[in-house]
Amino acid sequence: MYRLILGVVVLLIVVGAKLAPAAQQQDFSKVEIKTQKVAGNVYMLEGSGGNIGVSAGPDGMLIIDDQFAPLADKIKTALKSLNSGQLKFLLNTHHHGDHTGGNEIFGKDTLIVAHTNVRKRLESKPKEAQPVVTYDKSISVHFNGEEVQAMYFANGHTDNDSIIYFTKSNVAHFGDTFSPGRFPFVDLSGGGDVDGLVSSLSEAINRLPADVKIIPGHGSVLTLEDVKSYRDMIADTADIVRKQMAAGKTMDQIKAQGMPDKYKNLGTGFVKTDTWIQVIYNSLSKKK
Ligand SMILES: [Zn+2]
Repeated sequence: MYRLILGVVVLLIVVGAKLAPAAQQQDFSKVEIKTQKVAGNVYMLEGSGGNIGVSAGPDGMLIIDDQFAPLADKIKTALKSLNSGQLKFLLNTHHHGDHTGGNEIFGKDTLIVAHTNVRKRLESKPKEAQPVVTYDKSISVHFNGEEVQAMYFANGHTDNDSIIYFTKSNVAHFGDTFSPGRFPFVDLSGGGDVDGLVSSLSEAINRLPADVKIIPGHGSVLTLEDVKSYRDMIADTADIVRKQMAAGKTMDQIKAQGMPDKYKNLGTGFVKTDTWIQVIYNSLSKKK
């Protein structure tokens, strides 16, 4: 019996230790920045927070998003290993802290470019953290021999989402407009909208070439086919909730019904199935 209890205690400690990093996102000391080449001039850095896109070449460097401020030194070291040139531009895909936390450091000597609403959402942040160049629809940076297009997509994940497309390297950074492997996080208080996210994804799919390489907001490099199945999953689950709402079901009844088995594993992470149903319900109710 004593052995059994000891075994359980050891098991709890081991499980606890494994869960700890997820629970304490603020300990950045053990985070490693991993670098990979995507295509052409474009690289991706992974650490903690949103994926960082990098253009490295004769003009120096341009990055997309910057994770968290305590990781800035590690990110700078990773960038130096790619290119000896200067970091000239920082583009933000949207305002969330896991994508813009490093702005206050990088913004001291790099030009931050982002959608007008990113600047509005970051107005309480230090001056250095705020975008200096803003746009309403789109903007192009001509850099390292190609046009880098930042395209705004209205009210999807937030009210300030852009997809950044490297036209020659043929790589697109989707920010959290595409964050696969789980139900999406739609930030309703940040201007997000479930139907809007489906429209944004459809519009992006139509605009981009079929063989484009995709850097998602989080996770590994994927394809346009993966974006399509993600879009279809969101549209399908939203329709399930929409139909039940039209039939007069309450949110609790819809939650009790749940989602089809094929989507079960998508609700085990950051956004649980119940939360996703609630977000869809609230997003659709907003429009009535
Ligand atoms: Zn986000």
